[in-house]
Amino acid sequence: MSSSGYVYHPDYLRHNTGMHPECSERLSAIMKLLQDSEVIARLHEIDARYATVDQIKTTHEDTYIKHVESMCQREGHLDMDTPVSRDSYNAALLAAGGCLSAGDAVMRGDVENAFCLVRPPGHHAESDRGMGFCLFNNIAILAKYLQSTHGIGRILIVDWDVHHGNGTEHSFYDDSSVMYFSTHQSPLYPGSGGIGSVGRGDGEGYTVDAPLSPGAHDSDFMYVLDEILVPISDQFEPDFVLVSAGFDTHHADALAGMNMSCSGFEQYAKVVKKIADKHCNGRIVVTLEGGYDLKALSHSVMGVFNALGDLGLKVSEPYPAPRDSLSSSTKERVEHIKAVQQKYWKF
Ligand SMILES: [Zn+2]
Repeated sequence: MSSSGYVYHPDYLRHNTGMHPECSERLSAIMKLLQDSEVIARLHEIDARYATVDQIKTTHEDTYIKHVESMCQREGHLDMDTPVSRDSYNAALLAAGGCLSAGDAVMRGDVENAFCLVRPPGHHAESDRGMGFCLFNNIAILAKYLQSTHGIGRILIVDWDVHHGNGTEHSFYDDSSVMYFSTHQSPLYPGSGGIGSVGRGDGEGYTVDAPLSPGAHDSDFMYVLDEILVPISDQFEPDFVLVSAGFDTHHADALAGMNMSCSGFEQYAKVVKKIADKHCNGRIVVTLEGGYDLKALSHSVMGVFNALGDLGLKVSEPYPAPRDSLSSSTKERVEHIKAVQQKYWKF
């Protein structure tokens, strides 16, 4: 048995989006590969629970929570991209609550780290509106919960989804206790996450956005982590690390244009694990965001489990990976990020 856990519940499949990339088959594909490979037996199962409305209220306005509930009853849309069904409200409470269960399991020492295989995803959800397939901001709700219930001080949130996590960034934009770091494709939906977004007030310097040009490879991401994330984390010294893990950064994903391989996600997770090992006894909770190619998604999730649990697997690539190289555009963007962030951090 490894020291890693996972959260999953069949009711996550009941958030019915119809013909939509963010579909229940995503979780089924992940669970099938974990079962077929027998990796599941090496992971601790963590029971998901429902988040309470008060826990959702730490991040979302009461009127918005009620709006989600009534829109689900009517089987409507939260925005053009975000359809909901009758069971979506409960699935969303269970997704947020599953993340809280994972946080508790790590804090109790049942597991060192955990991966929440939940849907609907969360990182685009703003305090007052759902968007981009997201209902409630699972990772923001978890961060607030760890601080209020477990007395955690500084939290590092790493977001490797190909899209910028606007909702998460805004949740902590003026908060110096939660550092938000994101690598994402730019230009791309939702259009936020420019290098100049650094936080405001007490939170100034605690938002670090790394928008990368389309086509970025594994090496581009590793370069950004080595040059930006690792040195900043060494100065921020997090007490807990959270990850918004989107796998739409994979080269086979139809919703974006990046070139990451399954192995790239594994390498990214290893860097995050090293940060957590150094600063906070390896405490990490990873939560699923995007990722719409079922093979790329499931194999990449295996790669992340391999990194988190040191499982010694040889993670396979379901598609031939593009030739990896570090681009001059990434080097330029890293210099630009350093020029902006050096007001707050040493490089
Ligand atoms: Zn995404």
